[in-house]
Amino acid sequence: LFAGPVDFVKGVVAMDGLPPADRPEVCFAGRSNVGKSSLINALTGRKGIARASNTPGRTQEINYFALGDHSYLVDLPGYGYAQAPVAVVAKWQALLKQYLAGRPTLRRAFALIDARHGVKLVDHEIMTLLDRSAVPFQVVVTKADKIGATTLAATLAQVESELQRHPAAFPELVVTSSEKGRGIATLRAIIDGLGRG
Ligand code: GDP
Repeated sequence: LFAGPVDFVKGVVAMDGLPPADRPEVCFAGRSNVGKSSLINALTGRKGIARASNTPGRTQEINYFALGDHSYLVDLPGYGYAQAPVAVVAKWQALLKQYLAGRPTLRRAFALIDARHGVKLVDHEIMTLLDRSAVPFQVVVTKADKIGATTLAATLAQVESELQRHPAAFPELVVTSSEKGRGIATLRAIIDGLGRG
């Protein structure tokens, strides 16, 4: 699917703005600055198709990208932005809850975790929401190039132990570096498989 064109479809701010649920989709969730835009750009091979989301004004949109005519890749707003006003956070949480619970074509969520930080409280909360919404999710560890093998192993162990608390989680992690290209082909293959299934 990634061999075909990848196009930005629209930014959505409310449930009634979602495109028709007529094809499979996967979504990406993560804290602001986790490397979500960089990962989507690396996956799609289109630099700049996903813009950094760590400004309060940008945190509200659910961005839809079409992978050919077959499936959607969905960029959820970054969460945990320290300076975001309470009202913005509340609006974001409400939209996220509605999206996760109400999107029948959502095949899998990818929960992005920064290799340097591991699972933080906000990540735990999102994973709990995914459990409650019965959305199967898989952790993608980002920025693996930023740390050494020993620290990475410690992060992976922390993430794996966290995942045991989440019934909706896949046990397999995908370790990536958008900078070095690590894990990108693996993640593309997973998304391709979900788009066909
Ligand atoms: P977003 O807010 O989650 O969309 O995060 P961005 O994709 O904008 O990335 C946040 C910062 O981390 C930027 O300065 C990126 O250049 C950097 N970054 C993202 N991915 C990687 C990576 O794989 N390796 C390294 N070294 N830096 C990365």
